[in-house]
Amino acid sequence: MEKKPLYHFMPGTMTWSFGTPGCNFKCANRQNWAISQMGQDKSIPLATPEAIVRNAMNTGCSSISCTYTEPTIFAEYALDVMQLARQTGLRNIWISNGYLSPLCLKTVTPWLDAINVGLQSMDDAFYRRVCGARLDPVLDSLRLIQESGMHLEITTLVIPGHSSDPAMLERLAGFIAHDLGTGVPWHIIPFYPEISWKMQDTPPTPAESIEQAFEIGRKAGLSFIYAGNAHSDTFCDQCSARLVGRKASPFGDYRIERFDTGGRCPVCHAPSPMRD
Ligand code: SF4
Repeated sequence: MEKKPLYHFMPGTMTWSFGTPGCNFKCANRQNWAISQMGQDKSIPLATPEAIVRNAMNTGCSSISCTYTEPTIFAEYALDVMQLARQTGLRNIWISNGYLSPLCLKTVTPWLDAINVGLQSMDDAFYRRVCGARLDPVLDSLRLIQESGMHLEITTLVIPGHSSDPAMLERLAGFIAHDLGTGVPWHIIPFYPEISWKMQDTPPTPAESIEQAFEIGRKAGLSFIYAGNAHSDTFCDQCSARLVGRKASPFGDYRIERFDTGGRCPVCHAPSPMRD
């Protein structure tokens, strides 16, 4: 779950991931272009909703994630899987770019338990240039998702010279705080040119930029900001006691330590933000 990344939703559990080729964005900056930009690939086998749910259950997963590409483009298929998953007690997750119509969102919301939306910038010009898309529909989706009560987390990739401007990051953190709420977790992640689609000439994100974005989030009043190993644990937003410890292993999994008990902080007894 932590690799999605979702830090406040069913921590430490396993989720079964699936997706289809194609996307409604054309992100020059991302690593999954081989799946998202290659169109239909007949060598990829079709998995029936029944097989996906069965595989999730047989491998001890507690949820199913629609991911790798934008779930909106396979919304009907996702809906079939989600409805079946719900009948068996599995939870449903989307990893999304937020570019979906209000009708699509309204249709999937009753079946969706958690979503991580990539909010890449607050500049429409960035969305046009790097993603081949627009900013406003993403912001509208985020407001609707938060209104629906679904569990929401946000991820921002900081790309030097493209989405690293402190003033833009202040606007982005301010949007999360004011329009969505200071309790929405914000994940700040670095850019790696060597695995990007078309931005090999852009330098990798320096650690200082990540730290700077973290401080911007703090100043905006966000309670839960995650940025690499230095900022991966969850602390109580009332008394700062540690609620969850996370350690990434070299094998890509996480060691999770829970300190919240009975849904509360062990020290001040404020409600824990974790959704189990
Ligand atoms: S939104 Fe995600 S899947 Fe689609 S092109 Fe961008 S990075 Fe790839």
